[in-house]
Amino acid sequence: MLSVKQRQLNLRTYYYFYTGNIDGIEGTLTKNAYRNFQKYTGLTIDGIYGKNTNNKLIEVIKNLQGKLNNKGYNLVVDGLVGTNTINAIKDFQRKNSLSVDGIAGSNTYKKLNDTPIVSTKYRFPVNYIYVTQEYKSSHLALDLGWGTNYGGKNQPIYACYEGTVIINSYASDAGNYVAIRHDNGDISRYLHLNSRSHLSVGTRVQKGENIGAMGTTGRSTGNHLHFDLTKNGSRVNPLDYLYVYADQIVSTNSKNLVRYI
Ligand SMILES: [Zn+2]
Repeated sequence: MLSVKQRQLNLRTYYYFYTGNIDGIEGTLTKNAYRNFQKYTGLTIDGIYGKNTNNKLIEVIKNLQGKLNNKGYNLVVDGLVGTNTINAIKDFQRKNSLSVDGIAGSNTYKKLNDTPIVSTKYRFPVNYIYVTQEYKSSHLALDLGWGTNYGGKNQPIYACYEGTVIINSYASDAGNYVAIRHDNGDISRYLHLNSRSHLSVGTRVQKGENIGAMGTTGRSTGNHLHFDLTKNGSRVNPLDYLYVYADQIVSTNSKNLVRYI
């Protein structure tokens, strides 16, 4: 469950449902905010902050962070409003001649949904990028390794783009793996995960959202991510489509292989 302070931050940023101070106190304004949020999102309106309200409040902020990332921001998609999310909203509002208040209301959402997408570019699925095996006829994928100082053997794996989880499973060769279908029909897959992903099939994920941890399950000789990308039914070279975002680190020996946003 989110802390009361975090609930207030999320509820203020999302349509200004919370209008009071961020004080961590569950007073009348906070409870009213629960009620109005429940009403707006179609939940049972009881003014009680339960599991469904909590999940929904995380979901709407993840969705907002994903929309901002589609406009070129590099937010961690965690469903938690913090300084970075507020600053991204303000910057977006400034650039789109909206009143700059850091609150995502109907005008901001209208622009987020309407304005042309700045970046449809896939993001590398790890934040420390170390190519250990490239795409070739006998390996229609990209293998990515790890670095001791950058998350180690179990560095987090992130969705390369917004989409819907279509597989979360285990297979003897792939190990624990996840497949995501993107809205343009492309499918990205993430193999050998350390354990089963927490994401259930049908879940909507945002670009940069965590889907699991690097591992070596299945037919694998060491910790790595086997990432593949299918376009129009064919596996394509991921290096032709993935971009390094500003907050990502590239290992020295991979610098010449990758492209930067
Ligand atoms: Zn591989």
